[in-house]
Amino acid sequence: METMFTRDLLGRPLRSLRVSVTDRCNLRCQYCMPEQDYAWLSRDDLLHFEEISGLVDVFIGLGVDKIRLTGGEPLLRRNLPALVTLLAAKPLTDLALTTNGILLAESAEPLARAGMKRLNVSLDTLRPERFIQLTRQDEHARVMAGIAQGAAHFPGLKLDTVVMRGMNDDEIEPMLDFAASIGAEVRFIEYMDVAGATKWTADTVVPRREILERLRARFGAVTPLDEPGSTAPADRYALPDGRVFGIISSTTEPFCRNCDRARVTADGVLFTCLYATDGMDLRSPLRAGASTSDLAALVETRWAGRRDRGAEERVELGDRSALVPVSALRANPHLEMHKRGG
Ligand code: SAM
Ligand code: SF4
Ligand code: SF4
Repeated sequence: METMFTRDLLGRPLRSLRVSVTDRCNLRCQYCMPEQDYAWLSRDDLLHFEEISGLVDVFIGLGVDKIRLTGGEPLLRRNLPALVTLLAAKPLTDLALTTNGILLAESAEPLARAGMKRLNVSLDTLRPERFIQLTRQDEHARVMAGIAQGAAHFPGLKLDTVVMRGMNDDEIEPMLDFAASIGAEVRFIEYMDVAGATKWTADTVVPRREILERLRARFGAVTPLDEPGSTAPADRYALPDGRVFGIISSTTEPFCRNCDRARVTADGVLFTCLYATDGMDLRSPLRAGASTSDLAALVETRWAGRRDRGAEERVELGDRSALVPVSALRANPHLEMHKRGG
C-alpha cells in the first residue's frame, strides 16, 4: 500500500494535514504573538467550511489520513462543530484539535458529539499570575475550566507545555502531577525559533536532555517508550511510577526525516514546513473552479518537489537568533506561526 503515497524528495509520504481555521487569537503568548499589533485576514479571505472539506478530500486522495484543526485559536471560528461533522464523515484515522482552552468549557461536548477524536490543550503554567505574564490575558480560570470539560469528553487528552528557562521551567513536575490528576498526558515542547517568536533567544530553550536529567534526578530511571514506525513529533517516556509524558525537541534534536505533515492556512495557502518561507495559494484555483484532480495535481507536484528540513537546518546553523525580524513579518504575515498553525 505504501508505494501509492505521494513522496517528497527525501522519500517522505504526505500523511498528515494541519488545517488552520482562523488566524485570530484571544491570547498573546510571548513565544507566538509578542507584538502589539497584527494584520488579520478578512472574513472574505477565509476558506468556507465546504471549501476546507473539498481541500481535505484532495489531501486524502494523496494519502493523508490524519487531520488536526488549529489556528490562531480554532475555537474562535464560529460554528466549528459543523466543520468537524463534515470532516468526521471522511476516511480518516485521526481527527484532532489544538486549542488554548479558553472557549473549551462550552465547546468540548459539541466537538465530541460532532466526531472530534482527540484534543490537545496548550497549558504553560498552573499559576494564574504567571499566565497573565505569559499571555497578556487574565484567562487562566477559563482555561482550567475548559481543560476539566475537555478531559471529561476526551479521554487521553494531551496538555502541551512550551518550557522556557526562567519563565515556567520550575513547573515541569507540577505539570506532570496535574496531568495525572485529570488522566491527561503532558508533552513538553522546546521553545522554537519559528517566525513569530520574535523574542526567541537560545538561552531560554530548555533542551530535552536537560528535562530528562532533571526528572531522572528527581524520580529515578526515565524509560523511553519504544514506538516503532511512529511519526508523531513527541518522543514518549515513562517514569518509575508509570506516568507517561512526551517531549518535542524540535529545537535541539529535530525530527524532519520523519515529517509527513503539510499545513494549510485559514485562507488556503499550503506550506510544506513550519519554517517554509513560501507557500502555494490553493484558494485561487479552488474559487476559479479547479476540479479535485486539478487541485490534487498541484499539491502532488508541490509535495514531490519538497526538500524541507527547516528545524534541522536551523540546528546546522549553530549560532541562532530569532528566525524572522518583525519588519519581515509585517511585510509577509503568512510567515507567522499563528497564521499557519503550530
Ligand atoms: N491557539 C492554539 C493553541 O495555542 O493551542 C493553537 C495554535 S498554536 C500556534 C499551536 C501550538 O503552537 C501551541 O501548543 C503553542 O504552544 C505552540 N507554539 C507557538 N509558538 C511556539 C514556539 N515559539 N515554540 C514552541 N511552540 C510554539
Ligand atoms: Fe498562544 Fe496559540 Fe494564540 Fe499563539 S495561537 S498566541 S500559541 S494561544
Ligand atoms: Fe517538518 Fe519542517 Fe518541522 Fe522539520 S521543521 S519537522 S520538515 S515541519
